[in-house]
Amino acid sequence: MQSKSVVSIAHTLPHPGREEIAVAVRRAVALAGGLPESVRPGATVLLKPNLVEIPYTRKSGAVTHPELCRAVAGLVLERGADPVIADAAGMGSDTEAVISFMGYDQLRRDGYTVLDLKKEKTVRVKNPAATVLPQIEVYERALTADVLINLPVMKTHDQTEVTLSLKNLKGLLADSSKKAMHRRALFRGIPEIAAFFKPSFTVLDGIYAQEGVGPVYGDPVEMDLVIAGRDMVALDTVAGLIMGYRPEEVPTTVLAAQMGLGTAALSGIVIAGLPWESVQRRFKRCSESEILKEVPPGSLRIGGGTCSGCQNTIIAVLVELKARGQLTALTGRTIITGSLPEEELSGEPLFVGNCTRRYPGADYIAGCPPENSWIIDLLLEPDR
Ligand code: SF4
Repeated sequence: MQSKSVVSIAHTLPHPGREEIAVAVRRAVALAGGLPESVRPGATVLLKPNLVEIPYTRKSGAVTHPELCRAVAGLVLERGADPVIADAAGMGSDTEAVISFMGYDQLRRDGYTVLDLKKEKTVRVKNPAATVLPQIEVYERALTADVLINLPVMKTHDQTEVTLSLKNLKGLLADSSKKAMHRRALFRGIPEIAAFFKPSFTVLDGIYAQEGVGPVYGDPVEMDLVIAGRDMVALDTVAGLIMGYRPEEVPTTVLAAQMGLGTAALSGIVIAGLPWESVQRRFKRCSESEILKEVPPGSLRIGGGTCSGCQNTIIAVLVELKARGQLTALTGRTIITGSLPEEELSGEPLFVGNCTRRYPGADYIAGCPPENSWIIDLLLEPDR
């Protein structure tokens, strides 16, 4: 009989400091069966946090808490292995600036290795099981480490509903492959990348989480949770349920389970520690943003067949334009997603996403879903 996947849930005290976080991490890891055997003396263990972007505040829930990294690195050191904390910020963002803002440079001063992967060598390799990106450019460090431990943070995402363990692994791709994945198929591409890297263990930072228009500019939510396990799909299923998402609402979880990367069925998961129902809190979704009420009339047409990927992308674009005081860039323009009959077209159209029916001469941004910054750049600098 196939054994069940264990996902552990541990609580920290409110507003936890170093000691409280270390206790919760140790407990979550132990409840999940401990670090894998491969974390042995002399092994290099790559710890992959989420250093996506400089957030508004250190407690925004956008970036993995540095003390969670320190705690996991401590457990790795106890095994006689060598922890290396490493990540690359999102496309166009400066990892070192995130390291400095979030306090990861204190970890460096304390003797831990913290790498900006953008300064590291990349290699082009085959991903044998992939249909979206059969060839990927990845950071070599991720390939040469003996063990990979994934340290994502619990948050909503403007394109994939949530970003948890599966999505966090996209950070190990060089920007060229991140871009290519957005252009082709992000939802399917994410589990294919997860299948390639296959982390041995995941410790999810659910201390300061994020809801709404994540993954950077959403609203912070203090959850005081640490969640751990070896099965990424089971962990994303449980974390999603805590956030109020059924597994079938999260495309990356569904596709990863279909690919056999783990289980999304609660009947196949053993929860160790706190029951997930006891810590559940519905997270506000990206699609529930109030921003749509502020859009100039006629500036947005959501056509037939538009899925949450493009809908949430547009919402995130609007939120960013508003934050920059540039919602007026929409005046006279009509953003179109999905399929619209020609007679319903108005304004100066901007077709967004691979699903749109394109018209000669009109502006078009490819992607499934496209990267938010590509849409913003075209709206603000149409002649680029
Ligand atoms: S291009 Fe189509 S399938 Fe892809 S995210 Fe947009 S609406 Fe969804």
